[in-house]
Amino acid sequence: MKTAVYPGTFDPVTYGHTDIIERALKIFDKLYIVVADNPQKAATFTKNERVAMLKDSLKKHNSSIEVEYYDGLLLDYVKSKKSSVIVRGLRAISDFEFEFSRALLSRELEKYIETIFLMTKDDYAFLSSSIVKEIAMFHGSVRGFVPEVVERKLKEKFRK
Ligand code: ADP
Repeated sequence: MKTAVYPGTFDPVTYGHTDIIERALKIFDKLYIVVADNPQKAATFTKNERVAMLKDSLKKHNSSIEVEYYDGLLLDYVKSKKSSVIVRGLRAISDFEFEFSRALLSRELEKYIETIFLMTKDDYAFLSSSIVKEIAMFHGSVRGFVPEVVERKLKEKFRK
């Protein structure tokens, strides 16, 4: 069985993320989606909220995904799942430099683990969790950018 790990902050999950997940599922039989914390940024949603929104948004892929929170070293998580592939999404050239150095570092630490990059649908090239939160904060519409459950949670979070 071909498996891969897709890590991210998912604060919250957007259609950019689900697009990458659906592309990855065409290549891999099972995808471990791992919700992590970004030490540089305080999260808006709790880890349980982020996991729940992902699970809810990906119901139709239930049998081929696993979503969980992890706060250790990503490479250890990949090994614990007996996988050897990390999937990351690319939006624009601006993502490249960061992703490139991260992928090389992880290869340095663990040679057999490969990072692969999938390119988003061009409609989502501008989409990020931060943009979505900014729109929601000012009570704009995020329809078409995030799954329904996320739209609801954003409304609750940024209620007037
Ligand atoms: P991180 O803080 O680890 O970058 P994110 O949740 O922001 O976590 O993103 C997780 C992964 O999804 C990253 O590889 C990121 O580049 C990718 N990603 C985020 N938004 C999009 C998008 N709109 N299109 C394609 N990939 C995306």
